[in-house]
Amino acid sequence: MVLIAVGANLPLGGQAALETCRKVVETLRALPGLHVVAVSHWYESAPVPPSGQPPYVNGVVRATTTLTPDALLAALQQIELDFGRERSVRNAARTLDLDIIAFGALCQDVSHLILPHPRAHERAFVLLPLRDVMPEWVHPATGQMLEALLERVCGQEIRQIQE
Ligand code: ADP
Ligand code: MG
Repeated sequence: MVLIAVGANLPLGGQAALETCRKVVETLRALPGLHVVAVSHWYESAPVPPSGQPPYVNGVVRATTTLTPDALLAALQQIELDFGRERSVRNAARTLDLDIIAFGALCQDVSHLILPHPRAHERAFVLLPLRDVMPEWVHPATGQMLEALLERVCGQEIRQIQE
């Protein structure tokens, strides 16, 4: 079981961030070695940390995979590039961000791939869509349940996009 966070806040060509996110899901469905099991609703959230950037569109994809964690990260980074991602400073606006939130119960602290994602548990824009696809999720490193984590982020600005 892998959980992949999808985020975008810049249009790509004439395509709005929401459209990018939807197309990314189709791309993930076609990725060899990955089997998409569930896709969350889409959410609109204010940038963290607060900035003058446009709002983010966020969602979470639940999948199974035969890829190794490193191979999955490499595939996701290639998809980011294919969707026009330019890497500048951390937290810069982006056409697409794909993060691995969790890879099963694997806990590792290798800087190029930290699992579970080191900031996932403090972000409503990860935890709310995560609940859509895996309400029973338990943080593998701390043992905290998703509901408990959600309580701590309830002040964050986020809304579900009606589809
Ligand atoms: P962020 O997602 O934090 O805004 P980037 O998308 O630019 O920043 O990613 C920066 C680096 O974070 C990537 O080059 C990647 O190697 C590393 N990284 C560490 N852990 C993870 C993870 N769980 N998922 C995705 N990238 C990760
Ligand atoms: Mg990222």
